[in-house]
Amino acid sequence: MGCIVCGKESKYKICGKCFSERNSLISLQKFELEICSRCGNVKTRKGWIKLDLKKAIEERVLEEVRVFPDFNIEKIEIAGNTILFSGEIYGENVSVSAPLSYKIHRIACPRCSRESGGYYEAIVQIRAKGRGLREEEIRIINKIAQEVVELTSGEKDFVLKIEEKESGLDFYFGSKKIGEKFSRKVANELGGSVLTTRKLHTRIDGRDVYRFTYLVRLSEAEESDVVLKDGKICVVKNARLQKGIEILSGKSMNIEDSKMIAKRDSMAWGIITNLDEHVAEVMDSSGRLFQVPKPYGAEIGREVLIFEFERKVYAFPKDI
Ligand SMILES: [Zn+2]
Ligand SMILES: [Zn+2]
Repeated sequence: MGCIVCGKESKYKICGKCFSERNSLISLQKFELEICSRCGNVKTRKGWIKLDLKKAIEERVLEEVRVFPDFNIEKIEIAGNTILFSGEIYGENVSVSAPLSYKIHRIACPRCSRESGGYYEAIVQIRAKGRGLREEEIRIINKIAQEVVELTSGEKDFVLKIEEKESGLDFYFGSKKIGEKFSRKVANELGGSVLTTRKLHTRIDGRDVYRFTYLVRLSEAEESDVVLKDGKICVVKNARLQKGIEILSGKSMNIEDSKMIAKRDSMAWGIITNLDEHVAEVMDSSGRLFQVPKPYGAEIGREVLIFEFERKVYAFPKDI
């Protein structure tokens, strides 16, 4: 059997090439695209998403194009004002083109409209007990905020503003959900607790609308600080995980809800000069000698940090 037009060998009455020359396989109408003039997101069937223009046009073309049922599109290519469809029909690969015509509307997406309207549902306040936030902590906190927002595309998932205060940082979030997620992540990563409070903000259609405040309290203790936990004196080894070491026994301790005894920067430096079973003699940098309870890891010649607690002097190896 052959093609009735060109006579070429084919199992169809008419070959794909001859058919595509005599019939229109596709039809594409003019369409409109909505793009946010502020964030550049594009409106699609899945909502407003980040998408480059070319990809957005291709996706829309595939949604809008009407295709002859036997034509299987395999590839589309945009070249200026023309769009080329390549695919298979009646056993042959063919390419057909159509004019590409669309209009772009630049409007504000719902997320940006809310943002420009100053809308917010949650404030996250980040504070550290008994100290300011460290630079490193601020860097991590900002990174978490960025990640949390980038991972979502809800129309309320934005940071409205960030306020730097002497006591810490305040983040204003468009949605409660993102405020909650962010505060939990910060507390987990930096070691701290979250206290949630809500306040009636307004009523919409007879429904109460609340604003939420998440107070993230980072722990006071930092690495190498000395704290008191359950009557035991501990050196902080990991502030994030709230882990410490008891200075006399060397035992690992959880230091949550501990009391600060000495900050690392306030301690004096010294060296162990003598030892017996229970007592170590240490000399500080100005040559004064102290008798202290023998700390874990004590060895003559080892460097120590010295602090005072309840009018007694203690010391522990710097690299305990
Ligand atoms: Zn033919
Ligand atoms: Zn936008």
